[in-house]
Amino acid sequence: MKQHICLKKRILSETAGAVLRALVFTLAAVLLSPALRLSVHAKNLVIVIDPGHGGENEGAIYDGYTEKEMTLIVARAMKEELEKCEGVEVWLTRESDVDMKIIDRAAFAAQKNADFLFCLHFNTSENRNYYGAEVWVPSKGEYYARGYSFAQLEMQELTGLGLYSRGIKTRLDKLGNDYYGILRYCSREGVPSALIEHCHLDHEKDKPFYQQSQEQLREFGRLDARAAARYFGLSSDFPEMDFGGYGAPQTDVPAQSVKPDRTPPQLCRIKSAQVSEETGEITVCVEAQDAESYILYYGYSLDGGETYSPLEEWPRPQAWNQSAKEHTFTITAPFDRELQLCVKVFNGFDLDTRSETLSIPSIPDPERIRRQEQSDREKALQEAQKGYREIHYGDELQKAEDDFLSLSGLNTGQLGAAIGLILLLILVLSFVMARMIFLLIKPLSTKLLRAKGNKKQ
Ligand SMILES: [Zn+2]
Repeated sequence: MKQHICLKKRILSETAGAVLRALVFTLAAVLLSPALRLSVHAKNLVIVIDPGHGGENEGAIYDGYTEKEMTLIVARAMKEELEKCEGVEVWLTRESDVDMKIIDRAAFAAQKNADFLFCLHFNTSENRNYYGAEVWVPSKGEYYARGYSFAQLEMQELTGLGLYSRGIKTRLDKLGNDYYGILRYCSREGVPSALIEHCHLDHEKDKPFYQQSQEQLREFGRLDARAAARYFGLSSDFPEMDFGGYGAPQTDVPAQSVKPDRTPPQLCRIKSAQVSEETGEITVCVEAQDAESYILYYGYSLDGGETYSPLEEWPRPQAWNQSAKEHTFTITAPFDRELQLCVKVFNGFDLDTRSETLSIPSIPDPERIRRQEQSDREKALQEAQKGYREIHYGDELQKAEDDFLSLSGLNTGQLGAAIGLILLLILVLSFVMARMIFLLIKPLSTKLLRAKGNKKQ
């Protein structure tokens, strides 16, 4: 009996120990987990996916692509992927092409007791000049911290795919509340949330990420699911995913709401511009800075700011939210035109600052110079040919003379000697003839004189 009591005591103390251990374990899980709700109902994580737009609210339309259709494809793939994980319940705010008020989407998430709402979108820009992915997060407290922690993983996935990171940001309305209704209402309903703008539909740089096949949209969904799985430390057998021991990045809970950068970059200056006369290339070194955010894009103008080049990525080698102070790039400038060079830089919130304008003297076109030289050479050659022909025809007489000489087998010296000889011969002959005439005339004249003398006598 005594032994029985002891056994009972032991069982009781062991049970108490087990209960205590379970309590300690649960408490530790609650304290250590990045997602509070997840640990509360560890076996039943609830994820709500919100495919942006629907019904009459079509969202962005570009090149035959409609945002409301795209977000639904991505959402379905994300759901399918997440449902493969253990202990996860996944809901879509809309299963078909229906319009749904934003406030109702947040209410739906709250009704499902969601641990997170992921809102899916695709972007376009007014001037069709922006590209890349961005994640918008709630601006306040715990909702900011959770949104930001998830957004870092999401951005890792998107940039891993090759997209340019426009950043993780907050946006406020005039009253200082979250600008995006879905984030504002979700926070009000007690549901952490994030809004993913996967890429820009209207930019050449982003088209390869969604225009090749519909499979790319499903890939976006799988990618979103992977980011969520990493955030919640989920695992699945197929596809083999194990983020069980994965520590999601921790974000400090901000004391005040996190405000967006509302001022343009403080600095944008052309440090140097070196011109290559041979290639017409201008190597430009620009200094730019934005203390509140980071430099995202740059573009240059050669006509004093009338028109700009497509925007290029400004380097951020340290971290996505820290831009380099300086960037050097090369422009292939048009020849034979005086240029008015200026540069524009954009910060993470699409606010821009323009540099001073630099006058660059016209760079002579080497090709034009080459053509000119060739044309000059051709002209000179033509002149020379013309001159040659003139000389050639002027020589016709000489040629006839030469022909005669060659025919007679004499050269100029020999001809001179021959002519001299002939002249001498003529002279001698003339003398002989004159002498003969004299001799002939002399007796005749003597006779005549004599006859004259006789007559006188
Ligand atoms: Zn949208």
